[in-house]
Amino acid sequence: MDLIAEHRGKLIRQKALELGFDEVGFVNAGFLDKESVFYQEWLQQGFHAGMDYMGRNIEKREDPRLLVEGAKSIVVVLQNYTPARDVDTAASFKISKYAYGRDYHKVLKGRFKKLMSYIQSEVAADADGRFFVDSAPVSERSLAVRAGLGWRGKNTNLIHPRLGSFVFIGEMILNIELPSGSPLKEACGGCTRCLDACPTGALVAPYKLDANKCISYLTIENKGEISDEFAGQMDGWIFGCDVCQDVCPWNWKARPNKVPDFKLRQEFKEMTDGQWLSLDEEAFDELSKGSPIRRSGYEGIKRNLSFVSRKT
Ligand code: SF4
Ligand code: SF4
Repeated sequence: MDLIAEHRGKLIRQKALELGFDEVGFVNAGFLDKESVFYQEWLQQGFHAGMDYMGRNIEKREDPRLLVEGAKSIVVVLQNYTPARDVDTAASFKISKYAYGRDYHKVLKGRFKKLMSYIQSEVAADADGRFFVDSAPVSERSLAVRAGLGWRGKNTNLIHPRLGSFVFIGEMILNIELPSGSPLKEACGGCTRCLDACPTGALVAPYKLDANKCISYLTIENKGEISDEFAGQMDGWIFGCDVCQDVCPWNWKARPNKVPDFKLRQEFKEMTDGQWLSLDEEAFDELSKGSPIRRSGYEGIKRNLSFVSRKT
């Protein structure tokens, strides 16, 4: 291996961990051939539901070199957001763990900015590139797998052997050579817990998610009504859904994160069902400041609350 690339990789890894990222890997920038076939099939089946943006800029999604001129390598980071075990809320309504605290985009981008300054001042003066946290057509899970940070589980999430799947993924595409990791062996084995537990049958086959049926999609990205076919199946979820990850044995031993920004907000902990149901627009605006739940909007949250509360 190129000794300079290896040395750069060591420095970047060390700094990224020091900045608070939980895991770091590297992968050469190139065409994602195998993943592209799978993705195109998934789109053709209409499993992306109303997320039209997933069908746009496919060429960039398949080849990160098109996102950054002269791209040679990608630094992939994982940020653990596994919450503390004793998290308890007053309400029966549930929100996904990724939305417990501050908007993760802001947290990760702040760290990436510092990492980029470090790379340019201490690793390679000619280094340049861009970083992404859900902000461009990047196949983040595919890149993380190629970087050796885990495998794609049957629930379609990235699973890291130590951190589990409650991880945020970020990427930095750079114009310098870095070492490249190799994929880990898939370790779901004969387990089918996630497929068996999904309340709406959205995992239509191992590794295949139909977003049209997924509570995460229905409660966040979906802009329309929630179809009657899901009445009584939402299991109390008003923003996202963690069922297929909660049942995954790889998450049972994952260590809780120590990032204060990701701690369950006190308001979310204390709100009762009655307070959720009587939430007005002004209160939602206050409650969702700096929080991922802002994504569904006030109307979205009200729709979800009313649908989840339906008896039939
Ligand atoms: S997030 Fe929930 S609804 Fe979606 S696939 Fe997982 S268990 Fe099923
Ligand atoms: S629950 Fe089982 S099958 Fe599903 S992702 Fe986890 S290990 Fe794989």
